[in-house]
Amino acid sequence: MSGEECESGMDYSEDECGYADYYNDEDDCEMEQPDPTKRDPEYFSYECLSVEEVERHLNVSVEALSNSLQITPSLAKVLLHTNRWSVQDIVKKFGDESVNLLDRKSSASSTTGAVDQGQIRTTLQAIQCPVCLLTQPHDKFSALSCGHKFCKDCWSVHFEVQILQGVSTGIGCMAKDCDVLAPEDFVLSQVSRPATRERYQQFAFRDYVKSHPEFQFCPGLNCRAVVRAKEPRAKRVQCSSCAAAFCFLCGGDYHAPTDCATIRRWLTKCADDSETANYISAHTKDCPRCHVCIEKNGGCNHMQCYNCKHDFCWMCLGDWKSHGSDYYECSRYKENPDAAQESALTRAREALKKYLHYYERWENHSKSLKLEEQTLRNIRRRIDDKIMKAAGTWIDWQYLLDAAALLAKCRYTLQYTYPYAYYMEAGPRKALFEYQQAQLEAEIENLSWKVERAETTDRGDLENQMDIAEKRRTTLLKDFLG
Ligand SMILES: [Zn+2]
Ligand SMILES: [Zn+2]
Ligand SMILES: [Zn+2]
Ligand SMILES: [Zn+2]
Ligand SMILES: [Zn+2]
Ligand SMILES: [Zn+2]
Repeated sequence: MSGEECESGMDYSEDECGYADYYNDEDDCEMEQPDPTKRDPEYFSYECLSVEEVERHLNVSVEALSNSLQITPSLAKVLLHTNRWSVQDIVKKFGDESVNLLDRKSSASSTTGAVDQGQIRTTLQAIQCPVCLLTQPHDKFSALSCGHKFCKDCWSVHFEVQILQGVSTGIGCMAKDCDVLAPEDFVLSQVSRPATRERYQQFAFRDYVKSHPEFQFCPGLNCRAVVRAKEPRAKRVQCSSCAAAFCFLCGGDYHAPTDCATIRRWLTKCADDSETANYISAHTKDCPRCHVCIEKNGGCNHMQCYNCKHDFCWMCLGDWKSHGSDYYECSRYKENPDAAQESALTRAREALKKYLHYYERWENHSKSLKLEEQTLRNIRRRIDDKIMKAAGTWIDWQYLLDAAALLAKCRYTLQYTYPYAYYMEAGPRKALFEYQQAQLEAEIENLSWKVERAETTDRGDLENQMDIAEKRRTTLLKDFLG
């Protein structure tokens, strides 16, 4: 794993979808437009870090805070973790009153610090532990900054139990209604089992990263990489270690133009309504003209009946002629303007109809993406064949792979325009969005049609179509990506 800067313009190994390739091939016009944020609405600066590199970053903040407030590193960690790792904010908040810091709620210190005269005097007295009720000498007890004393055996059991349940930085005092948190050095001073100590440190690290706005764990399977961005935003990042691509802000699948909260809402709705939506998952439909059964085995939604050669749309079964980019109406949902005045039942039916319209398209593009992965594999195989027969080299055929990769990238964005449109308020902005969405969709289906017939499509024609589709995609993102 490397710690060097990797921006959206860098080379990655291709992921299984293939569209990662296309995301990293955009440095042709660097000279004319020095500001990449203006050129590419998805541009994002970030770096991939290893666990050790993240620990180094965290330690820099811990040291800075503990020096400037004259507190233990352990207490500095508690403050940082509960204040979004902003040294500046914490110094502003506590700077003048660092003397009182030890008494502050949720920012406990260990008792290993100052020992006052009173404590020395009482060391020899025996006291009773409120948990186990045993009376023991004073030196068998410890307390957090709140002063609630418990015997060390009880602390140790308390910590063991909490750590076993996965709690770490959130472990607090045992006293009822006391919310003082236990700093790392206090916990570790009471826990002796190496396995438990290690578990605690792992969980604490996870909490530190999660509470830090500049960090996001890679969601890749068994991947320990952490992505760091100085300006956290909902942008696409790709792990340089395992190649997983995700949204930096929420860690979920990348979802432009939809924002993190909306996509969460949409995915929850889809999960809740999965029964209703299930009947949609058809792989076959009847030709609207001759009624022969047609199976969809490619990603393209422009279907041609093998029997009567009728061109129709897989989504709406309408004539494909009505799907040209000038009058593309398939993506837009036509709301019933009278529905609001109707009965509750009619309104519910209308709401369901609307949801299914968007869901069906969302789901269909997701399926098309998978089918187009198969197309990509077929293209690879056909290129291998051609090279074996000495019909050109890989370089000669690379444009076909580029086309398939771009198609996947465009379709992915198109899929995520549907939740965006579903939650949009009706009005001129929605009309503009749906216009651009329709344009993008029309060009993507044209591209898909040409990619599936790549050998018979003219190279110039295909490259031209790629250009148009990508322009439509970036136009929509420029206008609607928050
Ligand atoms: Zn006890
Ligand atoms: Zn307490
Ligand atoms: Zn990863
Ligand atoms: Zn997100
Ligand atoms: Zn037919
Ligand atoms: Zn249609």
